[in-house]
Amino acid sequence: MTARDIAAAVRSGDRSAVAVLEEHLDRIAARDEELHAFNLVTADAARAEAEAVDAAVAAGADPGPLAGVPIALKDNMCTRGIPTTCSSKILEGWCPPYDATVVRRLRAAGAIAVGKTNLDEFAMGSSTENSANGPTRNPHDTSRVPGGSSGGTAASVAAGFTPLGIGSDTGGSIRQPAAFCGVVGMKPTYGAVSRYGLIAFASSLDQIGPFAQDVADAAALFDVIAGHDPLDSTSIVDFEPVASDALGRGVDGLRIGVVRELSGGEGTVEGLSPDVLARTQEAVVALEAAGATIEDISVPSATLGLSAYYLVAPAEASSNLARYDGVRYGLRVDAPTTGEMNTASRTAGFGPEVKRRIMLGTYALSAGYYDAFYGKALKVRTMMLRDFAAAYEKVDVLITPTAPTTAFPLGERTADPMTMYVNDVCTIPSNLTGHPGISVPFGVGDDGLPVGVQVLAPALDDVLTFQVAAVLEAAGGPR
Ligand code: GLN
Repeated sequence: MTARDIAAAVRSGDRSAVAVLEEHLDRIAARDEELHAFNLVTADAARAEAEAVDAAVAAGADPGPLAGVPIALKDNMCTRGIPTTCSSKILEGWCPPYDATVVRRLRAAGAIAVGKTNLDEFAMGSSTENSANGPTRNPHDTSRVPGGSSGGTAASVAAGFTPLGIGSDTGGSIRQPAAFCGVVGMKPTYGAVSRYGLIAFASSLDQIGPFAQDVADAAALFDVIAGHDPLDSTSIVDFEPVASDALGRGVDGLRIGVVRELSGGEGTVEGLSPDVLARTQEAVVALEAAGATIEDISVPSATLGLSAYYLVAPAEASSNLARYDGVRYGLRVDAPTTGEMNTASRTAGFGPEVKRRIMLGTYALSAGYYDAFYGKALKVRTMMLRDFAAAYEKVDVLITPTAPTTAFPLGERTADPMTMYVNDVCTIPSNLTGHPGISVPFGVGDDGLPVGVQVLAPALDDVLTFQVAAVLEAAGGPR
């Protein structure tokens, strides 16, 4: 059942939110020991919320567009009084004193939060293997990773634990796991969704976005969470996009560009696998058949995104993570002096990838290296903005694969960070530019696992990404 169907049934009184919830809790109970999508299932709190929704319906009130729809929250979204860990030991025992704006909006829309999902520690990773709680497994093949860092949310939606999920995307963490798990995942324009209550990784890149089993459900969720929030200073004023209305518009007359450097054309980055490129080509053919005009587009600096990201993101992370000092949040390891206590707490609390990023970022920002590394990365970022702006003079949207490969085996890429970082080569550019992007399943790879195709659009054209994704979904090939 789609989230739309559930909400319609609950709103009309045909089904109770409590019954819907119990059905989904049963699925979680049956399989989450194997998959480990959740860090925490908040069954009792969810039951109370579902009862409130049913009571509203009984009283003749409308509980909202997502009435009774179970939803999974990535465990870096603050939930009042409920542990929020970022899958890190350093936040052990910490409960936020407030709810993130997305959490409040979801509740106001009638959605039922069922728990907090596993992620790479502080959202740093592409496989959910960097979690202090152990990895999540891909529901389609449990020997494979679900992608990351929102791997728990992606697995929850793919396994049918929850029709909807919330993730965050700093360099691809919604879109890449969506591709690996065969679901829809969307990163909105920077500032389209409030980040109040999202635990910061790299603040100039982080965005919250929706996961769903199909494009229309993802659009319904996006419509609920998008919109201005005075509590987030980066939130865009007067931007209230509605994606659900655009899904039937088709692509007739749209100009669609295929990014040469990310899609197998001349000068393509290394490591894109042939089956993924073949599905991307087929997606382009499907869009052409639906009436779009196709153009081969060069975005030369797109290939520099990865290098710029691995300076900008760690630099911002080194600053954001300085607040975990053993004093204010979670874990404290006692020691004779405050300085030693800080060091002992951070040494025990952070995992190896987080430490690597803090060191990389601190180095890139240090006197003598700032201009050579961080400053240079900012220049590349500006160059990318210009290149994409030039591309969007010629076309309305751009197409690339979402990830270079299908889901890879657990353990395969943990030894060498570089092979892990390459996962985000196609998704990172739109984080650096702040543009929206969506991953939609399009057929399967040679191994039978899902392939995702990515639709990119200029800033504020979020609705257009859903519109094009709906056409790809309809053309889709086997899932
Ligand atoms: N995989 C990328 C990283 O490790 C992106 C993570 C994200 O989007 N949160 O930084």
